[in-house]
Parts: sequence; structure tokens; C-alpha cells
Amino acid sequence: VQRNHRPGYTGKLSNGKQNRRTEFSARRQKIAQQRKSLPIASVEKRLIEEVQKNDILIIVGETGSGKTTQIPQFLFGAGFCRDGKVIGITQPRRVAAVTVAKRVAEECGVELGQKVGYSVRFDDTTSGSTRIKYMTDGLLLREALLDPYLSKYSVIIVDEAHERTVHTDVLLGLLKNVQSARSKPVADDQSLNSGRKNVIAGMSLEKEYGGQSSGFLKKDHHEKYAPLKLIIMSASLDARTFSEYFGGAKSVHIQGRQFPVDIFYTCHPEEDYLDASLITIFQIHLKEGPGDILVFLTGQEEIESVEKLINDRLTQLPEGSQKLQVVPIFAALPSEQQLLVFAPAPSGFRKVILATNIAETSVTIPGIKYVIDPGFVKARSYDPGKDMESLIIVPTSKSQALQRSGRAGREGPGKCFRLYPESEFEKLEDSTKPEIKRCNLSNVILQLKALGVDDILGFDFIEKPSRAAIIKSLEQLFSLGALTDDCRLSDPVGHQMARLPLDPVYSKALILASQFNCLEEMLITVAMLSVESIFYAPREKQAEARTAIKCFSSPEGDHITLINAYRASNDFLEKRSAEMGKPKIEKAFRKWCKENFISSRSLKHARDIHRQIRGHAEQMGLNLASCGDDMLQYRRCLAASFFLNAAVKQPEGTYRALASGLVVQIHPSSVLFRQKPECIIFNELVQTNSKYVRNVSRIDYLWLTELAPQYYAVKN
Ligand code: ADP
Ligand code: MG
Repeated sequence: VQRNHRPGYTGKLSNGKQNRRTEFSARRQKIAQQRKSLPIASVEKRLIEEVQKNDILIIVGETGSGKTTQIPQFLFGAGFCRDGKVIGITQPRRVAAVTVAKRVAEECGVELGQKVGYSVRFDDTTSGSTRIKYMTDGLLLREALLDPYLSKYSVIIVDEAHERTVHTDVLLGLLKNVQSARSKPVADDQSLNSGRKNVIAGMSLEKEYGGQSSGFLKKDHHEKYAPLKLIIMSASLDARTFSEYFGGAKSVHIQGRQFPVDIFYTCHPEEDYLDASLITIFQIHLKEGPGDILVFLTGQEEIESVEKLINDRLTQLPEGSQKLQVVPIFAALPSEQQLLVFAPAPSGFRKVILATNIAETSVTIPGIKYVIDPGFVKARSYDPGKDMESLIIVPTSKSQALQRSGRAGREGPGKCFRLYPESEFEKLEDSTKPEIKRCNLSNVILQLKALGVDDILGFDFIEKPSRAAIIKSLEQLFSLGALTDDCRLSDPVGHQMARLPLDPVYSKALILASQFNCLEEMLITVAMLSVESIFYAPREKQAEARTAIKCFSSPEGDHITLINAYRASNDFLEKRSAEMGKPKIEKAFRKWCKENFISSRSLKHARDIHRQIRGHAEQMGLNLASCGDDMLQYRRCLAASFFLNAAVKQPEGTYRALASGLVVQIHPSSVLFRQKPECIIFNELVQTNSKYVRNVSRIDYLWLTELAPQYYAVKN
């Protein structure tokens, strides 16, 4: 729009154009007004002074005060992007990086990808002219692999640091090193991390820098880098941990605006919090005054099922009553749909937002007056003893509950309905344990190794992970062939694995598949396993869903079933795209998915990921072969890749996982649920009342000793 706007143009406009222009300038005015009224607007000058005075600054401010959207713009205005330098802002969640970047681009009146852009795994909108760059914390870590001094950045803002994701924690340690390295002239033989030359000599880098890695090295040695400013931002009021970690760094507090929120509890614990949420939504809708509702659920599946239940029940509302508009927001939602939560509801409608804990502090949605908090969150949990990582639904902490209720009082007094008794609130933990204490560390360790940090136990973590967890992960990386005997990154496998933006096991699977001549199939597998379940079975249509899945299902297991579904979608799209245009094909695709009980959102997401990792594989020169219908080769590759997750049947029909010794069962959603083969590999462990494994395939017991002899030996 900006580009078409000719300054000084006074000629007459046709009515349509005139209207659009009036609309546009009204929106710009509204945005300017909104920006001015944010609590942060009045302290711009002071904030800039503090950043200029302090190399590390901790900024604490309530959610919605304007930290994420405004501070980068302030810094840009104050000249921090001179000489083409970039301001980088990291977010723990991709949804936040994407939606905030879009908002800020709009606030600046520029096209996304120009001055303002975002870059998240599998989706990069930045360009050479991007100066304000929003990204995930994980992505900046990967960038450090290619540019160890993060030399293009003048300022790095680690946002939402209170979330304490494992990537944020590692990033803090890394940035501390980078900052101190950039504030000193680089001596000839000095490098950032001891093994850094390793990385630069790595084949991947030679490619990135067009084979000029030695030139890159030279430049390092002679050029003094401009100092790096670090800003740590957090919504939790306790800045002490961060300040202490950065040697007593200065912290500033931004006063927020918060209206009173009435908290309501239930009298008894709820048996089914989805049901309870549904009832509460309709109670609010029918009995309370205007204002939108925000419901905190734990994931895509829950959100989609509540979305459907609300829409079903809406048809039973009395005629003439106010209408409800349901808008979901979760990570895997296509980004154009994510933005819908920010748009006001059409007149005559009340908006119900079904969100994961994204809406807790990462994104601020205007217009909310009612919050429904069932009190649960999906979190990673890890037991290094059994080497078992799983996503489990756990009660929130007190501070999460407080953040959630706070969302109701941003624009006026509000109400929060906690779907549990008050006595339960008292029992909650004060705050959430940092993720680094409850996850498998192989991914992080692989990246640290690739960055040249060899002494993992000695790395300056803000909070040290347990020794047991570090050692377990080192063992795992070793058994995957990523590390050498003396615990260095192996060449080429370790380097290749670090290069792929995937979990180490998946990276290894792609590398192996290249050798097994089934990379095309493995790319599909990894893409399909990276999204939430493709198949869905609504409560009232279980039988139909089961019949639908049968046309894809393979007696060998879920992996081939997923490939069949993917290939079927390919066939459908290829055939139809010859016949119809793009808008029509989208509609037809959704219809095809619906008929086959496939979630079109998940499948689209998987297709997107597939395209990207295929690109990576191509760039790395892997052998892009397909095994066609020779699925034996593919299944052997599954065994060679996922041998850490092998299990054997026990007499009573349960399975014993060979690595951990855990007793598990095949999940009812698996195509092998009834067949119960002798030996399986699986990709996911779900813990409810019992332990279930999902994404299961049949393998031959003997393949394990043949294909993973480093891990399995034949006894008797
Ligand atoms: P903080 O980071 O301090 O929590 P933000 O900078 O994210 O605050 O939000 C500041 C304001 O911008 C909030 O009032 C929020 O409603 C608004 N805002 C943020 N993103 C969007 C968006 N995509 N659309 C409309 N308003 C937005
Ligand atoms: Mg923020």
C-alpha cells in the first residue's frame, strides 16, 4: 500500500480507491493511537538511555505493556540499525514470532519481510533489508552455527525469558560468551569456543559461504566486532535470577496497567475439564455482559474437539440471542488463521478464543473480559534413569494461573473462572521448573558440540541440567554415531546431524535412509511425525473413522500407513490441479480430507515441513531415492534409525521397551493395536493411566543386532 502511495498526489480518486484510502488512513491513525496509549510509550526516552548505558539490561513488564512490539521500534528509531545492523528478538514460540512480526510490520507501515520480518523453523520471511527480526530462540541458536559471533546483530533481545525454555537457557549462556568475545579485539589464535575451527571447517559451512570458509576465518582474526547489546525481557516480576547470572546486571521495571479480576472457583474438582469448559463458555455467553472469552486448553486436539462441540451446540441456542464466533490459536495453525484471533468479532457476535498457553504471556489479544482456566498445561517431562521423554498434561503453576487470570483485566475489570476448587490452587507449585531440568538434552548437546563447546558439564548454564541427563544424552548421541570415542562431533555424520533442524534421531534417520535408498519415504515419515496426528476420529463417528483409515492402513504398521495417506493426498492434488484453479483445489482438498477423516490442517502442515526438509536434504547432497513399493528396505531403515525405541511382546500381550525396560502398550489409535506383532519400533510414548506407544511398526527382532550392533548384541 505504501509503495502505491504517491506523496503530493492531489488528483481525483475513484470512489473505490478513495474509500480504501480513507479506510487505510483511519487504520493507521487507530494504530498510532493504540501505540501512544501503551504503558511503555511514556518511558521510551528513559529506556533508550538505559540501553545506551548498559550492555546488558533486564526489562521486566507486565504482559501487554508493549515490550515485544514497541522496544525494537524504539531501538530502531534510536539508530541501533546504523551500518545495516539488525535488531534480533527471540521468542520461545513460533506463533508469537510470526504474529508479532506481522503486527509490527503493520505498525511501521511496511511490507512483512522488508524492514520487519520473522524467521522460524521451516518459514523465513526476512530479506537483506530486514532490520527488526523476530525469530524463535531455537532459530538463533542455529544461526550461531553459521555465524558464531552473531555479527549482523547490534542488539539481541531475549524475550519471554521467564518461560525458561531449554533453548532460551542455552542461548543465554551462548550470548554471554558472544558478548564478551565481541567486546574484546580478537587475538590471532583466539577463538570463541575451543573447537570453533571444527565448525568452520565443517563441510556445511563451506557450502553456506560459497566455499570461502577460509576467507571467513581470516576476517574473524583481524576484525574487531562492534559490541553487542543484550536485553533480557520477562513478564515475571522477579528479575533476580537473570541479574545474578549476568553479574549483577541492571534491571528496569515497566509499570503495567491492570484492572481488578474476580476469581471464581468450582465447588468440587471437575471430572472432565473439556465438558466443564464448554458449560462455562455457554454460561458466560448467556448470562454475562459483553466481552470476549479466552479459554486455555492444552493442545491442538483439545482445541479442535472443543471447537466442534461449541459449533454443534450453537445450533440449539434460542433464536435471536447473541452469536458466538469461535477462533482457535495454536502453534500448528496456518499463520493466516493465527491472525484471526486479533481481529474484533463481527457486530452481534461474541468471540471465544480457544488457546494453548501461547496466550498466557506470549501474545496479547485485545478485547478479553472473561478467562476460563481449567488449570492444565502440556509439558515435557523426562526421566533420565529410564531415558523416557514424554509430553504430559500437568497442573499449571501458581504463577501461570495468575498470568492467565491477568489476561481478563487488561482493558477493564474482568472475571476468571478456574475450573478447580480453591483448595487446589494452594497446592500448586509456585512456578514452573525450567525446561532444561525436564527434557532430553541430545538436541542441545549436539548443537553445543557443533558450536565448539566440548565441555558440556562445564558450560555456564543459568541452571545446570542434571549430570545424569547430560550423560544419558551423550550416550545416546554416541549410539547414533554423532560422537566419536573421545566425545567429539563425528565427521561427517555428527556435523550433518547438527545441520538438520530436526531431532537427532530424525536427522539420523534421513542420513541412513539416504544409504538405504528410501530417503523419499523417510522424508514423508519425518514430516508426518512432526505434526499432530493426521487422522482424527470424532467421538460420535468412531466406526466411520476406522473404516476410512482402512483404505490407507498397512499390516506393517503406522509408518507405512502414514506414507500411504501422504501419497494418496499427492495423487489427489496432482490429478485435480490439472483440472481446476487454486481456490477450487483448496476447497476440494479440504473435502477430500474430511471424507477420509484426515485433519487438513495437520496434513497441510506436514506437506509444508516435507517441502522444507527435502530442500535441506537436497542441499546436503543426500541421495534422494525412493524405494517405490519395496517396503522391506524401508522397514529395515526404520529399525536402523529408531532402534532406541524397540520393544518386544511379552506373554500377557504388553510390550517391554528394550532400552528402558518400561512396560508399554500399543495405543488404540495404532493400526497394529489388535495384531500385536512380536517386535516393534515406535516413535512416541504417551502417558495417561498407562504407558502407550504411538506410531508403531513391525520389525524383525534380528534386524536390531544386524543394524544396530553398537547397541544390541545377541545373547543366547
Ligand atoms: P508485551 O510484550 O509487553 O506483552 P506486546 O508488545 O505484545 O506486549 O503488546 C502490546 C499491545 O499490542 C497489546 O495491547 C496487544 O493487544 C497489541 N497487539 C499485539 N499484537 C497484535 C496484533 N497482531 N494485532 C493487534 N494488536 C496486537
Ligand atoms: Mg511480549
